[in-house]
Amino acid sequence: MRIVLLGPPGSGKGTQAALLVERLKIPHISTGALLRNAAKRGTELGLRAKALTDKGELVPDSVISDMIEERLSREDVAKGFILDGYPRNIAQAKSLEILLERLNKPVDEAILIDIDAELIIKRIAKRAQEEGRDDDTEETVRNRLRVYTEQTAPVADFYAKRGLLTRVLGEGNKDEIFQRILSILNLGAMTA
Ligand code: ADP
Repeated sequence: MRIVLLGPPGSGKGTQAALLVERLKIPHISTGALLRNAAKRGTELGLRAKALTDKGELVPDSVISDMIEERLSREDVAKGFILDGYPRNIAQAKSLEILLERLNKPVDEAILIDIDAELIIKRIAKRAQEEGRDDDTEETVRNRLRVYTEQTAPVADFYAKRGLLTRVLGEGNKDEIFQRILSILNLGAMTA
């Protein structure tokens, strides 16, 4: 099962990815988390990326594609993976498609978590208090939403054209949203 999770910042992609990992036992690959780890370790790549993520700007495609290629070449993706935060623009979607063709691991499903911007601002304000992410300030969030609308939203059409996209309503509690995702994946109701 190879899944791409799409949705604006604060739509709950990370939360749903964690629930899917538990259920499907496949790795969760978040480019945002990979970048935050690199910054925490103080690598040159991580520190350079942090200057951009702190402003809500995208990190250059070449940096991300090297990171993703390395990650998708590991053995733990044999049974599948959940991509979260990637691809984030059309160029990344195209390069992912080429990479996955080469690895013989095409995307099976792209799931877009649909949610309105007002709710996002509220959720991110809450997350800022709980997690203290440096890019969760109001100004950065506004910029991330703008970048999303301009660059990432078209990625949904990219997958829709390939017949791979399903939209899920991102309102409600995390278990309700998870049930919607499971039904898209034909995994039915969960009996924990
Ligand atoms: P969110 O989805 O809440 O914006 P992420 O953890 O996915 O959070 O990403 C945080 C930041 O990391 C982004 O604002 C961006 O600067 C950077 N980033 C993450 N993934 C990518 C990517 N695929 N391409 C470019 N930049 C990225």
